[in-house]
Amino acid sequence: VLTLIPQYEGKRVLELGAGISRFTDELAQKAGEVIVLDFIESAIKKIFQESQARDASGKSFELTMVGCKCIVAYVKNKKNQNQIYWIWQKVSMENDKDFQRFLDNVQYKSNGILRYECVVGQGYVSTRGFETTIGQHDVDCGIGGGDFYMAETFDVHVVGIDLLVNMMSFALERAIGLNCSVEFEVADCTTNTYPDNSFDVIYSSATIFHIQDKPALFKTFFKWLKPGGRVLITDYCKSDETPSPVFAEYIKQRGYDIHDVQAYGQMQALRM
Ligand code: SAH
Repeated sequence: VLTLIPQYEGKRVLELGAGISRFTDELAQKAGEVIVLDFIESAIKKIFQESQARDASGKSFELTMVGCKCIVAYVKNKKNQNQIYWIWQKVSMENDKDFQRFLDNVQYKSNGILRYECVVGQGYVSTRGFETTIGQHDVDCGIGGGDFYMAETFDVHVVGIDLLVNMMSFALERAIGLNCSVEFEVADCTTNTYPDNSFDVIYSSATIFHIQDKPALFKTFFKWLKPGGRVLITDYCKSDETPSPVFAEYIKQRGYDIHDVQAYGQMQALRM
């Protein structure tokens, strides 16, 4: 677990839920200072829910989740599947998070996510068949159904990324008790970076219609793929006719960027 902590040499570290302090000594060897807290529930509430704060100069900050992972840990040869870690980062509230806030508050509020899931099936917020779910890197993983399916069925390691903390929280809940190798990251797929040649498969379902600059995204996918790697995209499209006023208004209100199948195909062809 300690190897997963971002660089903390010489820094002030707050350890929550220290229990019998099995990690504290180790942390203290490198940290400048370690503050140890237990009774994690009240501490978490205080830190994460009341986390918006101003500093002396009036700048506002909040905590934003940047990563989480469900790990299978072995303690004395006994498997413990339910270890989860979260990494949060303190960021300026002035950060450009408008799109993230828009999705979190309009289309993908918690009850909206659960409603989608009720309609399309457990673990998913979009319609798709299992047979399309075959990969290794899920861009915009939503609540994780596809990732668990891939990891369990094909015994592969899956990295699922999604822009929204709302989605991630549900994905983590659903990960509890599963025995598969899935890692989640809260990230924007248009700006996040991975080393070149990182993945065998990149998979995205019902998401790229949220993204305006698709050719730039495909270019990035191309770099992230290993030689011989494949991309599979399922997405919403429209006919090539002019949309009715009601449909046009809906597309605008949701901020979608949708095309007819032909034009979509051309976009990818151009890039590759
Ligand atoms: N693939 C999942 C979720 C589809 S819903 C499924 O099929 O069930 C679309 C998802 O795309 C949402 O979870 C939304 O948060 C995510 N998303 C939209 N724009 C994104 C971006 N720029 N980077 C990462 N995720 C994004």
